[in-house]
Amino acid sequence: MTLAASDFVPGPLLLLGAPGVGKGTQAQILVTEYSIPQISTGEILRKNIAEGTELGRKAKDLMASGQFVDDLTVNGMVEARLSEPDVTRGYILDGYPRTLAQADWLDSYLDTPHATSSLPLVAISIRVDETELLRRITGRRICPTCKCSYNIYSQPPRTPGICDHDGTSLIQRPDDTEEAFEQRMKEYAAKTVHVIDHYRTQGRFEEVDGSQPIEQVTAAIHSALKKLRGQKEE
Ligand code: AMP
Repeated sequence: MTLAASDFVPGPLLLLGAPGVGKGTQAQILVTEYSIPQISTGEILRKNIAEGTELGRKAKDLMASGQFVDDLTVNGMVEARLSEPDVTRGYILDGYPRTLAQADWLDSYLDTPHATSSLPLVAISIRVDETELLRRITGRRICPTCKCSYNIYSQPPRTPGICDHDGTSLIQRPDDTEEAFEQRMKEYAAKTVHVIDHYRTQGRFEEVDGSQPIEQVTAAIHSALKKLRGQKEE
């Protein structure tokens, strides 16, 4: 099913929601639907850890224990990524901004001539209840080669522990343990809920039910985005 009309310009879209709501999964689908890039600060940080950069060394322990990396570092990463040429029709921010200070910084950045998309940033939050989130997080397994994601309870690979696509051994993210999940939920409740209020009070916000099947969540995001862009459903 193709949801996006080819002439629809999505603009900058922020996917919000607690750990495990499916931001990454939905972002990957929307990347194909809209032909715009996904910008995941978590993914950029994991790449830096894998490559052993200074940034990666700084972020590694914080991430493994479920704590946030500092705003200055993350804003700098996003600024560098948004200066690349593939963002003019829009992009999907996944996992950023996560604090009010990051949201404020991003608003100021998007007001400067450096911002290449003329459409305003809009935010869509995906909502799922906490018991389901814990199941999704602790059951999640990732292929380190192709980055696709499985769940040992709801979406297991054909052979346990092995990626269906390339035969690589699946891994569990160090921050997908129950203990780290609790810390990540604390960070979310203390900091990221304010980001939701920030966009909601400015009328740049919609919420979708993330407990539905994946395709229905995608369709709900698409409808919400059209509404935020002032367009009718086709
Ligand atoms: P994610 O892949 O989005 O779940 O992010 C994994 C981890 O990376 C988070 O738990 C944080 O430790 C770190 N991280 C990712 N994005 C941010 C951000 N915007 N601000 C602070 N820390 C972040």
